[in-house]
Formats: sequence, C-alpha cells, structure tokens
Amino acid sequence: MEIKRESEQNRLLRILILEQLREFSAISCASLDSIQDVSMLPDTMPEHLPEYMQKSWKLRANPCIYLPWAKSVFSFAVSYSKLPDASNDVPLARTDELAGLVSAYALKKLDYHNVLTGRIAKFADSLSEIAGRKLRCEICVDSKPVAEKPLAFHSGLGIIGHNSCLRIPGLGSSIFLGELFTDLQTANLSFPPHAKGEMRDCSECGLCVRNCPSEAIANRTVDRSLCISAITMEKKGELAADEKRRIGRWIFGCDYCVSSCPDSDLPPPFKLDLEWLLFSSNAEITSAFKGLAISYASPAKLRRNAVAVLENIGERESLNLLKKYLDSSHS
Ligand code: SF4
Ligand code: SF4
Repeated sequence: MEIKRESEQNRLLRILILEQLREFSAISCASLDSIQDVSMLPDTMPEHLPEYMQKSWKLRANPCIYLPWAKSVFSFAVSYSKLPDASNDVPLARTDELAGLVSAYALKKLDYHNVLTGRIAKFADSLSEIAGRKLRCEICVDSKPVAEKPLAFHSGLGIIGHNSCLRIPGLGSSIFLGELFTDLQTANLSFPPHAKGEMRDCSECGLCVRNCPSEAIANRTVDRSLCISAITMEKKGELAADEKRRIGRWIFGCDYCVSSCPDSDLPPPFKLDLEWLLFSSNAEITSAFKGLAISYASPAKLRRNAVAVLENIGERESLNLLKKYLDSSHS
C-alpha cells in the first residue's frame, strides 16, 4: 500500500516537473540519502573567497549539516532567455569610448534571485498539494550556505564545466541556479533527460580557457583574485594597479567564459553610459537599477570601476570624461 502511494506520488511529481519546464530550463531532484556521504567541496578552502563564503565553508560541504530535517533537494536551472526582460530606463553609451561593459543578465533581465525564488515558491506549493500536507521547505538562490553547483551535479542536473560553472547539455553555462530543500522523500529524477554520454567531461573543448582575458581558469577552478567578475563585483575598497588594468572595460561582471561555452544563450554585454554613471546622484542610480542584479554593487563601487575603465580605454573622449569627473570630485 505504502509502495503504491509512493509510486503515485512520483508519477504526479514527474507531471509537475514536466509542466514546470515552461518556467525552468531544467529540473532535477535527489534524495539526500543518496548524497549524504558526498562532500560537496574540497577539503582545503581555496584562496581569495569572499568573506561570507569563508565563514560558511563547513556548512556548504554538506546540506545535511545545514538542514538536518531535509530529505530531498530539487535543483532548478533557468537559462538567460527564460528570465523576464527588464524595462528599466538605463542609458546606453553614445560611443565605445564612453562605455563600461555590464553582463547582460544584470541590466537587461530582472534580477534572477527574485525571479527564481518566486518560481520555486510556486513549485513548492504544488509539491505540498501532491504530498497532501504542508511540506517543510527551504529555498536557496545564492542566499544560503549551499554549494549549489556540486549539489546540482550530484542530483543529475548537469556537469561542472571547465569554466567551473554548471554546464547542461543543450543549455551551456549561461544558466542561473536555485534549490528547494523539502522534508518529502522523492525519487531521483532529472528533466530534460540526458542522452547517454552527454554528461561527459568537456575539458577537451577548452574555449572558456582560451577566451578568458585574465588567464583565471585552471583545473576546473577560477582564481578569484584574477577573475574580472569577482574583482568588479566583490572586491572592497580601492583597486590595486594590477586589478585596475585587469578589468579592462568591465564595470560589472565578465561573460567571456560563459558566452563562449557551446549552447549558451548569453547576448553581448550592455554598454553602460559612463558619463551618466559618474554624474548621476546615488538616488538616481539606485532608482534606475531597481529590480536588477547590478543593484548588488553600490554606486560608489561602480564609479570606482568606471574610473579604471576610462583609464584603460585611454582614448581622447574617455580621458576628457575622466578629467571632468576627477576635477568635479575634487572641487
Ligand atoms: S568571468 Fe571573465 S575573468 Fe572570470 S574566469 Fe570567466 S572569462 Fe575569466
Ligand atoms: S567552454 Fe568548453 S571547456 Fe569550457 S565549460 Fe564550456 S564546454 Fe567546457
């Protein structure tokens, strides 16, 4: 009788997941029993991790420590094109000499943290209906100490690509991840299903390594001290001379290792008007970036990056703008 009820639950779960592929690009679920002895992280903590990751390193190693009541985990992936378009009025640069590059997801799409959290919450409600009780749930979208990429790998969603991102056959690396932990015991499922051999190691391709302008990728890991994305988003305080040079034209993010990954659907970066960024008030910038992922960086941090970018461009128009800004900030 119990087995019959469980198989009916799994049948309904499959139907729910297939329906939800309208909202998500891929979904997997796994019983935590099946992965509880697997450490999600290497024994030694890599250097140059942000402080919040260092503090939660031990918790991240295994979700069973952080959420002892959880019985299963769902991993969700949404590709760039499945995120809703943003309609914010953010000014595009008139010329390349006045442009700072921003990863497209951070300005052209609504903040994926909010989008995924909302979609996963609706999924959780449907799951409770299937279970016939209000399930205990925890949703994570970069918001909790969870090693989301290894977890997605172990639950069958995709593989860890050479660029250290999760890579899903047919979707590449331009995907955003979220997790749902529940106290419902589930079967191990993954949709869309992967063909035999698709989930193999991808390192023979090597495009991400060749396209990284900072030589930050080696052995399936990214050295965050060299990574433009980490420097522009996470580095606190002033940039060192090497970091200023390294970020090139980026003021937020860097996409080369993701956009060069076969099957990724990431468009070229947004070219933000640096004159607008440097001469608008904090309130104007905060208002223009409302609901976008770029809002995680303060106006001060973006201006810091913009100054370095104008120096790096080094053309007449960019240096004139830089001088005008430095003169105004010292007057
Ligand atoms: S985000 Fe940019 S700098 Fe960082 S590893 Fe990828 S390509 Fe290299
Ligand atoms: S670019 Fe190539 S090597 Fe890098 S993650 Fe994608 S498939 Fe793997």
